[in-house]
Amino acid sequence: MKDQLIVVAGGGGFIGGALVADFRRRGYRRIRSVDIKPFDEWYQRFDNVENLSLDLKNKDNCAIAARDAHEIYNLAADMGGMGFIETHKTECMLSVLINTHLLMAAREGGVNRYFYASSACVYNADKQRDPDNPGLKEEDAYPALAEDGYGWEKLFSERMCRHFREDYGIRTRVARFHNVYGPHGTWDGGREKAPAAICRKVIEAKATGRRRIEIWGTGRQTRSFMYIDDCIEGIHRIMDSSIEEPINLGSSEMVSINGLVDLVEEIGGIELERTYDVKAPKGVNGRNSDNTLIRRYLDWEPSLPLRTGLQRTYAWIEGEYTARERLRAADAAAGR
Ligand code: NAD
Repeated sequence: MKDQLIVVAGGGGFIGGALVADFRRRGYRRIRSVDIKPFDEWYQRFDNVENLSLDLKNKDNCAIAARDAHEIYNLAADMGGMGFIETHKTECMLSVLINTHLLMAAREGGVNRYFYASSACVYNADKQRDPDNPGLKEEDAYPALAEDGYGWEKLFSERMCRHFREDYGIRTRVARFHNVYGPHGTWDGGREKAPAAICRKVIEAKATGRRRIEIWGTGRQTRSFMYIDDCIEGIHRIMDSSIEEPINLGSSEMVSINGLVDLVEEIGGIELERTYDVKAPKGVNGRNSDNTLIRRYLDWEPSLPLRTGLQRTYAWIEGEYTARERLRAADAAAGR
């Protein structure tokens, strides 16, 4: 296996980069990492990996990416946190081209297995009105009322995987990720998600002395957050399993956004005055992962406590923030 070619689409991104790093750690010798971003914007890039900067919406590029692949992991998508997906629905929908063209290339190239990263955003909005969400079960995606744009693209692409499996025998595996967080991901710029955004805001408040934090929504909306290491472990376990239908890959440790801010403040050793922007994009009221199915199939589920994962994430973002501010100060001093 370790001499077979592994292709990671979206390898310049947060989860794709972590997956490439993990395959290297596991001793895989032939890894191809593909992303639309220029190389200097990749979160993680390795010399002994075949790195390609290609737009995978394009069918010919998918053929290049998939050539000789034994397994393909599709983690490429034009996406971000609520602030991005609620305002860029077309871009989100256009990621359908990536998965469709990659599946076509996978079929033509005779790939052995194909992984698709779906999302909890496929779930019916009516099942997420209550902040005390008992956990979304896989069957709750239908009847469909997915997150407009991003969620519908994911749901359609899940079905495309199913049809390629049923009609052409490609072994597709689909995981519905619930919010993933950790080091080496987006923490600023508009695409970041709640854990990274809150860590950055707390770090910024400490650094600037402006002891205030703005929270999107009422703060009472609930979510669960999965640490990146659990996500990577889950991807391997699901890919190697016989699970053919989409399955939740998420933490079931539910927390309100206010609770998340409490934790980050504790880690930062600071208490901030909170303001609430109820007009900002906030997503559904309550979302949690029901892990009954993954436990039954794999006897495993994501388990790293949120507090531990946040401590690691906070430390990483603090390092990035400090490095950026130093650079800015040096530029300003040099008149650049
Ligand atoms: P990310 O934005 O860090 O990574 C996605 C990568 O895809 C980016 O590097 C981007 O440049 C690349 N990409 C976008 N368009 C492309 C194109 N046309 N051709 C090639 N590459 C392209 O996001 P992530 O958090 O690493 O997410 C990875 C996957 O997991 C995505 O499919 C995402 O929808 C899914 N997902 C993520 C989360 C989460 O919480 N992070 C939750 C649910 C689902």
